[in-house]
Amino acid sequence: MKTKLTSIAALVILSGASQFLTACTSTGSTSPAATSVSGVKPYPLRTCIVTDNDLGSMGDEQRFMYNGQEIKICCGDCKDQFLKNPAKYLAKLK
Ligand SMILES: [Zn+2]
Repeated sequence: MKTKLTSIAALVILSGASQFLTACTSTGSTSPAATSVSGVKPYPLRTCIVTDNDLGSMGDEQRFMYNGQEIKICCGDCKDQFLKNPAKYLAKLK
């Protein structure tokens, strides 16, 4: 009985702590380093990797993962374009 209460208390503390952490990261600065924790490389550019247009210039910026690298593009057509020749576009990130 006592151990059950203890584990419930621990759960409450843990869920409270994770909520606090979530609030903390969402209000914190959006530094690229913050997202590297999960092993994903954040997309470093402000432009579409395919067209070099400003992201959002087409109104529907899109993102996806490619080999652990986050890729951002200005529209769905650019994803098809990227996947036809990923190496060509990934070179822009280096
Ligand atoms: Zn596009």
